[in-house]
Amino acid sequence: MSIKSVCVYCGSSNHVDEAYKSTAHAIGVLLAQQNLTLVYGGGHVGLMGTLADAALSVGGNVIGIIPEYLHNRESQHNGLTELHVVECMHERKKMMEDRSDAFLVLPGGFGTLDEVFEILTWKQLGLHNKNIIIFNQNKFWDPMIALIEHVINSGFAPKDNRKMYHVATSIGEIMPLLTTPEDRFVDPTDKWA
Ligand code: AMP
Repeated sequence: MSIKSVCVYCGSSNHVDEAYKSTAHAIGVLLAQQNLTLVYGGGHVGLMGTLADAALSVGGNVIGIIPEYLHNRESQHNGLTELHVVECMHERKKMMEDRSDAFLVLPGGFGTLDEVFEILTWKQLGLHNKNIIIFNQNKFWDPMIALIEHVINSGFAPKDNRKMYHVATSIGEIMPLLTTPEDRFVDPTDKWA
């Protein structure tokens, strides 16, 4: 499957281990070298800023989408290929989804959790059928994956939802997973419950 753009969800905090920053840098470079446009939240802080700077440093295309009221807090990145300043978070998330052919989740905080579950639920509802890759650096996302398993094992989500995302444990696994043909198309009229 060929893709042209990847939306990356990741943390905006600067107070994290260097290992997360250097991996975000490596992934920014990797995406640019694969000629993939990076779509992200448009900020210049935390892993988000590191990722965007890295992609730009090797000539990559980077599209940032930021709500007006986050300008100061996440200090919008002014060196991007495209920066869209939108009215609200809902518009940001919708545009990030529209402009992307696949999604990659790096370590992050509450905002990242919100984004990963939103993109999973949009897939569950059949609103998109794009690949979602969770990069489980240093087992960072193990507790989230365990929570998803708990929800499925308790009957609150169908077992097939396991197919809605893939987990990468090394940078080398990311590209093949991003381009794997997606087999979990959810028919929006399917009343599983
Ligand atoms: P965080 O993981 O909390 O550092 O946030 C990462 C990104 O997610 C930031 O650009 C946040 O603005 C964004 N984000 C998306 N949805 C939300 C939300 N509901 N609450 C807070 N941040 C959010």
